[in-house]
Amino acid sequence: MTMTCYVAGTPVQSDSILEVKSPYDNRVVGTVTLANASHVEQAIQAGLKGGKALTRYDRFSILDKARQLLVARKDQFAQTISAESGLAIREANYETGRAHDVLLFAAMESLKDDGQIFSCDISPQGKARKIFTLREPLALAACITPFNHPLNQVVHKLAPALAVGTPVILKPSEKTPLTAILLTELLYEAGLPHYMLSTLLGPTNEIAEPLVKDPRIDIVSFTGSVAVGKRIAASVGYKKVILELGGNDPLIIMEDADMDTAVHLAAEGSFRNSGQRCTAVKRILIHEKIKDVFLEKFLQKAKTYNCGDPADPETRVGTVIDEPAAIYLETVVNKAVEQGAKVLLGGKRRGALLEPTVIDNVPRDAEMIVHESFGPLAPILTFKDIDDAIALSNATAYGLSSGIVTHNMDYALRFIKELKVGTVNINEVPGYRIESSPFGGIKDSGLGIKEGVIEAMKCFTYVKTFSLPW
Ligand code: NAP
Repeated sequence: MTMTCYVAGTPVQSDSILEVKSPYDNRVVGTVTLANASHVEQAIQAGLKGGKALTRYDRFSILDKARQLLVARKDQFAQTISAESGLAIREANYETGRAHDVLLFAAMESLKDDGQIFSCDISPQGKARKIFTLREPLALAACITPFNHPLNQVVHKLAPALAVGTPVILKPSEKTPLTAILLTELLYEAGLPHYMLSTLLGPTNEIAEPLVKDPRIDIVSFTGSVAVGKRIAASVGYKKVILELGGNDPLIIMEDADMDTAVHLAAEGSFRNSGQRCTAVKRILIHEKIKDVFLEKFLQKAKTYNCGDPADPETRVGTVIDEPAAIYLETVVNKAVEQGAKVLLGGKRRGALLEPTVIDNVPRDAEMIVHESFGPLAPILTFKDIDDAIALSNATAYGLSSGIVTHNMDYALRFIKELKVGTVNINEVPGYRIESSPFGGIKDSGLGIKEGVIEAMKCFTYVKTFSLPW
């Protein structure tokens, strides 16, 4: 695939070419002509200059057309996701389905009136007036996305922004730029006015950092690591900022848990998408009384998550994003073993391919427990009672999501109230959501400002109120 960045619909020309290689076999999957600082300036000016304002029906039609085009090209998108990220093709197919839903929900929401009305004669201080609210698009948004869902992370920024009429400059991950550019082209084809979207990649100090700092941009919407998110928070200045950062989510298995449910959720949560989901199960916390029974079944289940060629439809776990990421994961497993942990399954690495790895007796202060391990690791820790489980769960700096396996309503309510996270899912994986429900973390995982189509649409607008005699 020979691709280019775009400044408001115009392909960028430069001598700087990025080669995108498959993490699985290192073949060149595609190239991207990169942008430079002058393209950032052109993109900002094009976005701010704007063009024909889009009606709600216009925005609906573009998003719905994009949805239809994505359905028609879902195989091309899935193959591109898989080739550039190393994710198994079955995961890439799943991701195109999610992106479809994002476009569908954003199209639907774009048709709804989002105003509120306040009658003012409701107190002794009141009078016969009404206050109305309306939402106005922002002048320009900068959206910066990570590699782990090359399509879905991008569409979760673009669709809500476009649904409210806010122009975007997109900076996708350099590790997975091809899918983002395919989507950019698809949106232009669906009728998106070119001023509404520029897609730029290039050196961080020429593209991403200037975008973050530019005072003409009204919002920076970022999804990625805690380290980069905090750097952005420190430099963004006086503008809106959305930060969706890393996670270290627990699956907490209580002593009354249905064992088949626990085993299924632990395996799906730990290994799907090569464990590279912000909401992947990164810690399996299990009541000490049931660990042995759980482990016996879990190991059998984990063995069915075969890893290998991402293009093979039978493969369940592809590579992680690159060899350094796999080496890091191997290192944290070895460090945990030095502290007394035991690898019960997997652990072998070939290039960027790391076998799904089950590690028992992991100390509470192991690096893989304290920090996010973005890969197919399933570290197991025990707790003695619900107080211990809650303390252990809350002990990291992260606060994204959580999954609990229990039928005990008292337990469920305590977890919902006491876990310091953005989401609690009872008898589900931490990552459970629909694309329009509010989503986002607290503590190091985010500022508590939610995304998901509906909340993100609010982020990409300002509320104006006006009042009238009534
Ligand atoms: P990353 O290294 O933070 O990169 C994310 C994006 O930021 C990339 O586009 C990257 O560009 C860009 N970037 C790098 N340095 C920057 C800077 N100084 N200023 C502005 N932008 C900069 O994250 P990643 O490794 O791609 O993604 C994995 C992380 O994302 C994990 O921690 C995961 O948990 C998190 N995540 C969170 C959520 C959520 O909703 N909470 C969802 C998915 C993933 P380059 O590609 O050019 O470096």
